[in-house]
Amino acid sequence: MNQSPRTPVIAGNWKMNLNPGEAAALIRETKPLVADAGCGVVFCVPFVDLHAALEAARGSNIKIGAQNCHWEEKGAFTGEISARMLRDIGAEYVITGHSERRALFGDTNETVARRSRAALDAGLTVILCVGEYLEQRQQDITLEVVRTQTKIALAGISAAELARVIIAYEPVWAIGTGLTATAEQANEVSRGIRGLLGELYGQASADGAVIQYGGSMNAANAASLLAQPEVDGGLIGGASLKAADFAAIVAAADASGTASRA
Ligand code: PEP
Repeated sequence: MNQSPRTPVIAGNWKMNLNPGEAAALIRETKPLVADAGCGVVFCVPFVDLHAALEAARGSNIKIGAQNCHWEEKGAFTGEISARMLRDIGAEYVITGHSERRALFGDTNETVARRSRAALDAGLTVILCVGEYLEQRQQDITLEVVRTQTKIALAGISAAELARVIIAYEPVWAIGTGLTATAEQANEVSRGIRGLLGELYGQASADGAVIQYGGSMNAANAASLLAQPEVDGGLIGGASLKAADFAAIVAAADASGTASRA
């Protein structure tokens, strides 16, 4: 049983999947399955799905977010979408620093910091992704890596703003691979991140921060990961594309904290 006083957040990252019609259908299917959730429920969808997703989620407990944003508010940045645009359309969340953006699209700790800053300025909640490569874990530098990523991304972010930052610990070797960190590994790194937050912001802010685990979380392994005291939910890729699987993870999050939040 996870005794944490924090309310977990289960967020789906659809990546580059589903057109607007499919997005609306999946949300309509998921809505009744998660209607009684005690945890936060979010879908981070492709930009072109935002409108349809927001319409489909209207009146429900499902919040909608995007998967990236640019740091400038507007201007000559062909192909980019600003945080303000996301907020204006009605999105409430945005992912920054996903490992796929870092590995495939050149995101650095510095650009992740700028995106996160812009998102907060626009009134969004940030889901900030950090995580190590397999070689870094084998070299025993996991904590160093995630501490550096987190520290740089949070530079200039105040304790009050930290309340709108969710940190997603996502070991890169576990994303989309079917490999999952053990519950102990997820808990240990999350504890390390919380320790850093304590150094930067003080214990109370650190204790209130939501730290998710992401990396092949699914209906079968969610319960043991979410039962960890330092793990406050999940960022879910593949399993968020199936209503029943995603709802099972939401149910696992609720079950993991029922006693402590009752
Ligand atoms: C992700 O995209 O953040 C993720 C964790 O993907 P998956 O669940 O498919 O590993």
